[in-house]
Amino acid sequence: MSSLLIDTHPALTDLSAQERMFQEAVRDFAISEIVPKVREMDEAAEMDPELIAKLFELGLMGIEIPGMHGGTGADFFTSVLVVEELSKVDPSMAVLVDVQNTLVINALLRWGTDDQKAHYSPKLASDTVGAYALSEAGSGSDAFALSCRATQDGDHWVLSGHKLWITNGSEAGLFIVFATVDPDAGYKGITAFLVDRELDGFSVGKKEDKLGIRASSTTELLFEDVRVSADHVLGEVGKGYKVAIETLNEGRIGIGAQMVGLAQGALDHTVRYVKEREQFGRAVGSFQGVQFQLAEMATEIAAARLLVYNAARLKVAGKPFLVPAAMAKLYASQSAQRVASACIDLHGGYGFSKEFPVEKLYRDAKVGTIYEGTSNMQKQTIAKALMR
Ligand SMILES: Cc1cc2nc3c(=O)[nH]c(=O)nc-3n(C[C@H](O)[C@H](O)[C@H](O)COP(=O)(O)OP(=O)(O)OC[C@H]3O[C@@H](n4cnc5c(N)ncnc54)[C@H](O)[C@@H]3O)c2cc1C
Repeated sequence: MSSLLIDTHPALTDLSAQERMFQEAVRDFAISEIVPKVREMDEAAEMDPELIAKLFELGLMGIEIPGMHGGTGADFFTSVLVVEELSKVDPSMAVLVDVQNTLVINALLRWGTDDQKAHYSPKLASDTVGAYALSEAGSGSDAFALSCRATQDGDHWVLSGHKLWITNGSEAGLFIVFATVDPDAGYKGITAFLVDRELDGFSVGKKEDKLGIRASSTTELLFEDVRVSADHVLGEVGKGYKVAIETLNEGRIGIGAQMVGLAQGALDHTVRYVKEREQFGRAVGSFQGVQFQLAEMATEIAAARLLVYNAARLKVAGKPFLVPAAMAKLYASQSAQRVASACIDLHGGYGFSKEFPVEKLYRDAKVGTIYEGTSNMQKQTIAKALMR
């Protein structure tokens, strides 16, 4: 009886054999190949193209793309595990993978026509990085106040305007771009387009010089009368707001996973450090005051992980996950900041130095409460459900 209960109600953290295999493969890759390059990539504010090529080789850039289109054919939960694992080592590399899988591929598979999926899936799985372009200078939290314009001209749409803060802008070959076909229609004018990098009139503008996730490119996009074929509308004309809302609801679970991995990475470094660092004639990790701090951190990370896994498993099961996803992102990003900060404290002066990885993880943690909906926006979603 008890084994039946265990089989039918596993802990959220119980992984299937396939999930465990993925987790271990990504962990090995991250430790052997990413770790040696993290600092250099952070300082150069550039992602190593060889590492990106390896992400494709390992099947990490097309996790949910079906095998018949060259993808890995795994599920959303696997994407979350991959993002968590990469983030322990480098949240920059993790967000490249996160945007590719939880936003771009997710939107394509959910909203794309058969032709669009047949055309773009093999590319995304094999060599094309994707980007997701919603934000503009004047529209962030109020995303649907965007002003990028799409005007119909025969069997084409002509895009004009600017996008800002676009992750993977430097590397991407495919951009999911949100523009309005009718500014007077408000959110009902918003439409999503599949835009190839090579199109005339499209260019990638200024790259942001950032506090954290420096190796992840964040760029401006410029559209000067870019002609996009009408069969490149993703979803329906005027229904882009649905594409955006639904993919971001899912995508923010990935950001929660990024923050869980980041916090775990910082804690792992710190446990190692306090075992070695001696003061008052003994390892600082032998002081109960320090151990209690570690215990608090481990508990916060475990709680954040449960929220993230629960939201991801609900999504995979086709159950409602809007509020669980908002809670997961809110809590995981806030706890990652607390954990990364405490990890610096426990490294003492060395924590403040670039010689130890916690300094970078602390900087990287900051973005978690901002992108894919700020903490206030997550609270708004949670509160709205409470007040209904
Ligand atoms: C590194 C990075 C990568 C990004 N990548 C992408 C990407 O790939 N694609 C993309 O489209 N966007 C991307 N973004 C943009 C990101 O999603 C926005 O920055 C975010 O949604 C916040 O918008 P904003 O910066 O305009 O802040 P604002 O909306 O101006 O918010 C400023 C402050 O006001 C608060 N606030 C605003 N409205 C309310 C309200 N109604 N109630 C309470 N508080 C409120 C916010 O919580 C915040 O604290 C990225 C941003 C960063 C920093």
